[in-house]
Amino acid sequence: RSKDRGGGVYHAYVPQLHLEAEERRVIELALRRALDNDELHLAYQPVVDSRSGAVRGFEALLRWSHPELGDIPPAKFVPIAEEARLIAPIGEWVLRTACAEAAGWPDDVRVAVNVSPEQLHNPQFVGVITDTLARTGLPARRLELEVTESVFLREGTGAVKLLKQILDLGVGLSLDDFGTGYSSLGYLSATRFSSIKIDRSFVQAASRGTAEAIAIIRAVVAMAQSMGMATTAEGVETEAELRLAQELGCGSIQGFYFGRPLPVSEARALAIAVRRPDASPAATRAA
Ligand code: C2E
Ligand code: MG
Ligand code: MG
Ligand code: MG
Repeated sequence: RSKDRGGGVYHAYVPQLHLEAEERRVIELALRRALDNDELHLAYQPVVDSRSGAVRGFEALLRWSHPELGDIPPAKFVPIAEEARLIAPIGEWVLRTACAEAAGWPDDVRVAVNVSPEQLHNPQFVGVITDTLARTGLPARRLELEVTESVFLREGTGAVKLLKQILDLGVGLSLDDFGTGYSSLGYLSATRFSSIKIDRSFVQAASRGTAEAIAIIRAVVAMAQSMGMATTAEGVETEAELRLAQELGCGSIQGFYFGRPLPVSEARALAIAVRRPDASPAATRAA
């Protein structure tokens, strides 16, 4: 019966597995054309000062709308792009677009761009950054790159060197999703991250009163402070989580409580609006 549908004999035996492989193949094929077909864009989520609510910057988050497949979340297609070796061109597009768009924002508002470990394989990567900054006119200090702990797993000391070269450009460097990976304090102390982003899972657990999560956040914040790194609490959704982040000393917060990822025009408007001296933290909250 499966043959009648032209789907091959495997349908009958491992339908689930087959579907997953098939879905990946469909996504990969579509992804190969996504750049040329203009199907990608960026959404920008505000990162705000945990006390004043002032917008410090925005994280650029990749969005893909396919005419037939619909909106596909990055958690689904980024891993496929990485395996299919498509993340380098896509990542360069993200970097170029984010820098170009952020160049039009107020001068003290930064933009954060996620970088896949795969992109750090490219020996030209530092050149790509320098080139992009030069072309877009964005000052290096307004760009921040976000990497996860997995860069150390794949690249080891090579990653440490490359990350240092990036920092030497004057570009900021965040350790993203801290706590979900394979934290090595050795690598952490070898790289002068500008900031540590504490994963949403810790923020949630801590606000539910989990003692271990609270202890870990406290320790991370203390370590970050002693090393001159900033801290951001990720995925703050409620007022309780905001208060907790404040109490634990996280300097910045990011999450649906303050604002969801926004279209670029709204991000720019928000960045401008909240710089007015009368703007209160409440007024900062983007619905
Ligand atoms: P991330 O870098 O940790 O980005 C934060 C993710 O958390 C975003 O999901 C954001 O929408 C979501 N988020 C923010 N606040 C909240 C909240 O309060 N509650 C909840 N439940 N979620 C919140 P998104 O946009 O779906 O991106 C998922 C992941 O995909 C990112 O995690 C990042 O690892 C990856 N990604 C996104 N854009 C890019 C990109 O341009 N390049 C690469 N290499 N990866 C990207
Ligand atoms: Mg990120
Ligand atoms: Mg993150
Ligand atoms: Mg995360």
